[in-house]
Amino acid sequence: MSAHPYAGKRIGLATIHEKERALAPPFRRLLGADVVVAPDLDTDTLGTFSGEVARPDALVETSLIKAELAFHTMDVDCAIASEGSYGPIDRLPLNPGGLEIMAFVDRRRGIRMVETLITHRTNWRIMSFEAGDPSVRQAVEAMGFPDYGVFVIRGNVGGHAVKDLKTVDEVVAAVDREARRADDGRAVVATDMRAHRNPTRMKVLRALAWKLAKRLSVLCPKCGAPGFGHIMSTRGLPCENCGEPTHWIDFEVDGCSSCGHAVSRARKDGRRTAPKLSCQACRD
Ligand SMILES: [Zn+2]
Ligand SMILES: [Zn+2]
Repeated sequence: MSAHPYAGKRIGLATIHEKERALAPPFRRLLGADVVVAPDLDTDTLGTFSGEVARPDALVETSLIKAELAFHTMDVDCAIASEGSYGPIDRLPLNPGGLEIMAFVDRRRGIRMVETLITHRTNWRIMSFEAGDPSVRQAVEAMGFPDYGVFVIRGNVGGHAVKDLKTVDEVVAAVDREARRADDGRAVVATDMRAHRNPTRMKVLRALAWKLAKRLSVLCPKCGAPGFGHIMSTRGLPCENCGEPTHWIDFEVDGCSSCGHAVSRARKDGRRTAPKLSCQACRD
């Protein structure tokens, strides 16, 4: 077995939030590569958590642009960046969730790859208080502070945010101060979703990093480029009764994003036909 093309290579990581803690172990273990944080980055200029769930296509675009920032300050072929978005899912404020996107770029081989993970594991929360509200202390502790960070935001989400508060007393003082300065007399306490201040998010990023490294560990059988794997599914599994195509998946297609080589394979579960109930022709 020959070595992986990334073995012994450095891979640039665009982060200012210690995401190397999530990425370095799987990339070392599965590929033998060293994930190195790109120097002199200010990725916060590319957007921060706004408390709204961003559109997935916008996150994909941002994470790819962010990864390529690493090439400005590092002499490497490959770079990684990630973007996340958390908030209430389906307008149910008690059921927050998140979407994490990790982008990988190999500029020499022309590989641009994105892996995603949807999670319900999060402490994401926003709460609004007036100055002097006695419940701030308990609310902040319920958010996991100080193991988990919190932001205090003047007025509404999107306003001036106070970060890196160290003690509950500092948070209470910041709520009182910012609420008094706000037009509506309120301050918002929000969970800090930056990876280094949010252990649950770091755990989710670790899972996604394993998924990405695993994908990159598979080499294209034709050109040897990393990242060969599932790119699409085709539908049309024939009906067990009449043989007409149904909406069920018939083939999975694996492909290479470097040379375009693709192969289709039958369903993993071994099904060769779809149930009669799923057939439009048989139901009409
Ligand atoms: Zn049928
Ligand atoms: Zn290939």
